[in-house]
Amino acid sequence: MPRIANAKVHTSSPLLLLRQIRDVMAQALSAQLRLDQVVEVIASGFASDVCSVYLLRAGDVLELFASKGLKASSIHKTRLQMGHGLVGEIAATSEPLNLADAQAHPKFEYRPETGEEIYSSFIGVPILQSGKVIGVLVVQSKEAKQYSPDQMEIVQTVAMVLSELAISGQLVDLQEIKSATDGLVAQQLSGMRLSSGMAKAVAVLHTPQLIITSYVAADPNVEQERFVNALRSLQESFDSFIQSSNLPDDDEQRQIIETYLLFTQDRGWKNRVTDAITSGLTAEAAVRKVQQGLQAKMSQLASLYIKERIQDLEDLSNRLLHLLMGKPLAPMPHELPAEFILVARNLSPADLLDYDHKRLKGLILEEGSTTSHTAVIARAMDIPALAKVEKATSRIQSGDIVILDAESSHVYVRPSFQIEQLMDAQIKSHAARDAEYEKLRDLPAVTLDGVRISLNVNAGLYVDTKNVVQEGVDGIGLYRTELPYMTSDTFPEVEAQAALYAGMYEQLPGKRIVFRSFDIGGDKKVPYLQAGEEENPAMGWRATRIGLDRPGILRKQFRALIQAAAGKPLYVMIPFIAQVSEFEMARRLFDLELEDAKEKPSLVKVGMMIEIPSILWQLDTLMKRADFVSIGSNDLMQFLFACDRGAVHMADTYDTLSPVMLRVVHEVVDKAKEHHVEVSFCGEMARNPIDSLALIGLGVRSLSVSASSIGPLKAMIRSVTLSDLSVYLTYLLSLPESSVRQWLASYARDHGIIV
Ligand code: PEP
Ligand code: MG
Repeated sequence: MPRIANAKVHTSSPLLLLRQIRDVMAQALSAQLRLDQVVEVIASGFASDVCSVYLLRAGDVLELFASKGLKASSIHKTRLQMGHGLVGEIAATSEPLNLADAQAHPKFEYRPETGEEIYSSFIGVPILQSGKVIGVLVVQSKEAKQYSPDQMEIVQTVAMVLSELAISGQLVDLQEIKSATDGLVAQQLSGMRLSSGMAKAVAVLHTPQLIITSYVAADPNVEQERFVNALRSLQESFDSFIQSSNLPDDDEQRQIIETYLLFTQDRGWKNRVTDAITSGLTAEAAVRKVQQGLQAKMSQLASLYIKERIQDLEDLSNRLLHLLMGKPLAPMPHELPAEFILVARNLSPADLLDYDHKRLKGLILEEGSTTSHTAVIARAMDIPALAKVEKATSRIQSGDIVILDAESSHVYVRPSFQIEQLMDAQIKSHAARDAEYEKLRDLPAVTLDGVRISLNVNAGLYVDTKNVVQEGVDGIGLYRTELPYMTSDTFPEVEAQAALYAGMYEQLPGKRIVFRSFDIGGDKKVPYLQAGEEENPAMGWRATRIGLDRPGILRKQFRALIQAAAGKPLYVMIPFIAQVSEFEMARRLFDLELEDAKEKPSLVKVGMMIEIPSILWQLDTLMKRADFVSIGSNDLMQFLFACDRGAVHMADTYDTLSPVMLRVVHEVVDKAKEHHVEVSFCGEMARNPIDSLALIGLGVRSLSVSASSIGPLKAMIRSVTLSDLSVYLTYLLSLPESSVRQWLASYARDHGIIV
């Protein structure tokens, strides 16, 4: 066993080392020559015999890319699998190793081609990018000497600089390495569908990854001052956000900002950045270095809570980096491509709405859930969207070509030629199908046996009038009035509301618009109306419950609607009614406003949504009072089956085409008929032609769906003979199965129905 030397190992100052690396980089050399010179500089800076750089290639293989000291013939030949040998161990654990006698380590693997058997001491650190190992930097010496923690720190600083240089393509050809973003290799990611559809476009990262170009400090004092100033201005912006936003203490956004604020005061973190600056890094390089250390730790952690906190700290570092480098946090509108798919860790509704919806073709989130406000808006924008796409922001870079197939919940990043061709064909067939639907524009939605079905569009944010102004589309069957106000900080006043509603009439002259009164709460929280902590917000202080507790809110909305509808027909729909008495109270408030109105609508109809099961036992009373009803299957399904509509893991547990759901629809339709009350269906279920086939078979004559579903529904309606279907559905209702989807699919096939 070699004797361990106690003698202090000479190392040149980190600043000198960094300057020398910078000088190499300034030369007009090939990437390989630069890397060869960089390892020479590091070896001499450490007075060591060997300096090697291993980089990760596809297949999780670490390849020796450059070395001063190891046999030249081993360069690009020596390869280690992740977890194998000391280098593989460092890459697998993201942890550095500092060994006086490397060969005594159980993971040491002898590679005769390198000639490394003569070296004893070994220091190896991971080269990291966005929390992932992209390579390993190794320094070795014959003498069995122990490197000090300070020296280890310097190797880490150098590794961080190498990572920035590598990722910017200055040190190695990016095609060659399986880099931080999994190299430029094609990838298939998967996630959870928030909104369906398919799109192919250029990716835009909501917070673009910055590449640090200046890493050597000219004057550490100046860099320290830059860091302190940037931190102060960040603190000030957080402070003023908290003071001006008026958000309650338990608001999630407020809590995140408060956590950021706490981190800006964290001594340990600040000291680590300051130490990195003292070692010769610029302020941005120092922040990145500390950030990388944390990212590496995060990948080792099991605790979700601590992971989330570190993620917050990482967000903070990103903000600081953007500030230090003078780059805006989100891309500027003029920098955005004509068509793009947005990629973000998570996104607030306000952030999403900041993007030009005409150019935005899709949304990919690392986090998010179907119930998030952002998901609601993505659906309203009618763009494909996926959530829970793991590491999307590090695997996708701005500028990458991305195919988002929300139908199968997949994302293809930098797709191979074959995948691109395949997906292009699918996108084309979708487009061809749309073109076929387009041909139906001027044709009515009438069944083969002459029954007219009223088609309507669900809207709330944007109304693509071209989809509404067509034959067979009667108007807006569900206008979710809360959506335009989800990003406001304050409650919208009567004038603003009236202007919005009047705008709808202007856009759609002669069309019927069913305005649903506010359905705030549940998954649609707004800062100006907070229910406090609720264990089950979907069943909490929500919608009309809020409106009845705070009648001013409902009355103002009714006043605005009546004003906007002066001289025109007004359809108002009250959501989330558990008891007829609630509907009556809401209606009374409406009548009070109507009495006071100077100019009245030409016609007034007040209806309600059927979305809480208790109402199913009050249908007779209800039908005597409501002018019309609309079935909301999204909420009705979740309450009927006690199955959270936003819970991904249970998404396929119960089918909308269960005889239970169909019997409910049947019952409502029968009662409505008996009382001559119009019944429509506005839940998501109706978007699927096969589901709507069941609905019309049960007697529903009015459907309201997102605009993109109008074509498929019209095609289905125009290919069906209702009289036969109704008889078949009566039979299906009696089946004990959990779903009759297969039965209906066979029926559609046998009868040539387009579903
Ligand atoms: C429903 O519950 O089916 C519905 C249409 O309302 P929302 O999706 O807005 O809750
Ligand atoms: Mg609902």
